[in-house]
Amino acid sequence: MTSSARLLIVGPQGSGKGTQGARIAQALGVPAVSTGDVFRANIQAGTALGEQVKAITAAGNLVSDELTGQIVRDRLSEADAATGFLLDGYPRNIQQVNDLDAFLTDRGESLDAVIELSVPREESIARLALRAQEQGRTDDTDEAIAKRLAIYESETAPILDVYRERGIVDQVDGVGTLDEITERITAALTARDITRPATV
Ligand code: AMP
Repeated sequence: MTSSARLLIVGPQGSGKGTQGARIAQALGVPAVSTGDVFRANIQAGTALGEQVKAITAAGNLVSDELTGQIVRDRLSEADAATGFLLDGYPRNIQQVNDLDAFLTDRGESLDAVIELSVPREESIARLALRAQEQGRTDDTDEAIAKRLAIYESETAPILDVYRERGIVDQVDGVGTLDEITERITAALTARDITRPATV
């Protein structure tokens, strides 16, 4: 039997998608691919890519579709992503959905499920403010937070309509304990028969 677990987790900043994405990816034995993490790691390491995206991410704006798409395609071309992966933070707008579709279709693949993590706006903002105190992320300033939430609503939320039409979206309540939320996501994936893919 061939099985795959090609997943995407979507949610506003502060929804906990990074934490939940990492947990789910680990449970399924697939790599978590977070574009935000790639950018942050490069900024911290002072690479050319980091220098290129530093000001953009600090202001809460989006990095170009070309650059972000290339990073994702390179990562998904690695052997450990052959039967599954969990994307976190990409795609983030309709153009990126089209780019990802083209890449996956070329390989005879498609996304198996999209987890929409729902969290009320006030809760996201409260969590981001807390994270700003704890982690000191450069894009967790009030201004950048407002910008990122506005971009989420205008550019990212619409991608869910595209995936909803394909019948692959599971909306999960993102309020609760970490374990409760992980269990909800796991239940939604199990209902779709998505389990740890066999290694090739
Ligand atoms: P995140 O950790 O997902 O909130 O991403 C942090 C920042 O990285 C974002 O505010 C953007 O500046 C940049 N970024 C992450 N993913 C993308 C993407 N798919 N397209 C463009 N920019 C991105």
